[in-house]
Amino acid sequence: MDFDFDLFVIGGGSGGVRAARVAAGETGAKVGLAEESRMGGTCVIRGCVPKKLMVFASEYAEGMHEAVDYGWDVKIGGFDWTKFRTRLEGELDRLEGVYNRLLEGSGVTVFPQRATVADAHTVRLADGTTKTAKHILIATGGWPSIPEVENGELGISSNEVFHLEELPKRLLVVGGGYIACEMACIFNGLGTEVTQFYRGAQILRGFDGEARGHIAEHMQRHGIDIHCGTNILSMEKVDGGIEVRSTTGDTFTFEEVLFAIGRTPNSAGLGLEEVGVEIGRRGEVVVDQYSQTSVPSIYAIGDVTNRVQLTPVAIREGMAFVDTVFKGNPTAPDHDLIPSAVFTQPEYGTVGLSEEDAREKGPIEVYSTAFRPMHKSFIGRDDRVLMKLIVCADTRRVLGVHIVSDHAGEMIQLAGVAVKMGATKEDFDRTVAVHPTMSEELVTLKTPVRTA
Ligand SMILES: Cc1cc2nc3c(=O)[nH]c(=O)nc-3n(C[C@H](O)[C@H](O)[C@H](O)COP(=O)(O)OP(=O)(O)OC[C@H]3O[C@@H](n4cnc5c(N)ncnc54)[C@H](O)[C@@H]3O)c2cc1C
Repeated sequence: MDFDFDLFVIGGGSGGVRAARVAAGETGAKVGLAEESRMGGTCVIRGCVPKKLMVFASEYAEGMHEAVDYGWDVKIGGFDWTKFRTRLEGELDRLEGVYNRLLEGSGVTVFPQRATVADAHTVRLADGTTKTAKHILIATGGWPSIPEVENGELGISSNEVFHLEELPKRLLVVGGGYIACEMACIFNGLGTEVTQFYRGAQILRGFDGEARGHIAEHMQRHGIDIHCGTNILSMEKVDGGIEVRSTTGDTFTFEEVLFAIGRTPNSAGLGLEEVGVEIGRRGEVVVDQYSQTSVPSIYAIGDVTNRVQLTPVAIREGMAFVDTVFKGNPTAPDHDLIPSAVFTQPEYGTVGLSEEDAREKGPIEVYSTAFRPMHKSFIGRDDRVLMKLIVCADTRRVLGVHIVSDHAGEMIQLAGVAVKMGATKEDFDRTVAVHPTMSEELVTLKTPVRTA
């Protein structure tokens, strides 16, 4: 049977763009891609990239205060949100252009419109036309969840946060996951008064307990008003902002309320169930280890599958899909030991197991140190760095590394290589320290602080 395309990708985000480019560019496949919004998807347009640029912007406040203590004559003025936002928008336009050109250069035919699945080999475009394809790849990502609270529509999500007209004076962040915590730190750094509600007992659920406590304590000390065990009950528009009633019975007024309570896979309304694609309880497209759905010609990668919601993972899944389907080399994306970073202030870099999860698996040794790094202690700052290794007591393998410090994201990328290679505690010990650095502590941790 003749198809219009060998592959039709729905969604031009991290996973979809990579799969389309590699399939077309490296295997000569005829590829079509539909994107209903802006090319680049969440990461480029409303996720990692604008967020990281805002992290950079927000860190200058602390940096300038530190510079003064180091002897610089700095006059600290205000932050010009409009100037920053204009530059940010320019940068996102530039990156979107790069993505479009990369697709064009690989020979991918782009349809800048919404697409849905009509049958196992047919895609319907918003303009009413249909395209047939031997394989269809669903790469539609996810969307921020909004809680069902009274007048919840008064709040915004991470989609809107980068486009605010003005920097809010008082902001409520609802949620305790990594995006919520990052946003709380960003706005705190930019000079906004930040309150954070999280319904659980401690922010950053799922990460290492000691690291979570360390970060929460640091965030609070730097002015973020964290309310754990607290949720939003109702919201009402009032003069000067939004009045929020909390489940703990308190009333607050904020200029903006940002919901960052999680993301839902973008699978609704795509026609997937109608053609027999299995959808899971949380709306995720159910796939096997090769990203194949219950309909053999339809595959899915990235956030829509709700495996690990990270850009490099979506990219890996896209490349594994191309290896499997177009290069004759069945490849299951490897979801084990994925290093990641939380861009709170201070940053958190992590790879492998938390202490809590490692305990469940067998006897462990925990090596951990919290100390004042040189550049902070010199100016009398009390901010501490946390360096922690979780070691299997039987095999001596390092099962987890946790770093809370400036630049922890950069450090964990490299520690991740060692952990992925199966490094033991003794391998870490045999490695000569780089001095004077913070990360040298990772290779000089002598005695376990706990065994379990
Ligand atoms: C605020 C924020 C910060 C983040 N920070 C990080 C980070 O620091 N590091 C990290 O690794 N990850 C981060 N992420 C997560 C990361 O952005 C996602 O994991 C990644 O973008 C997923 O890629 P994807 O290809 O699955 O989907 P997406 O990038 O979401 O792309 C999906 C695309 O599909 C399009 N689409 C949807 N439905 C249709 C349709 N029917 N027809 C046509 N097009 C459609 C959408 O418009 C979108 O462009 C962050 C996310 C957010 C929200």
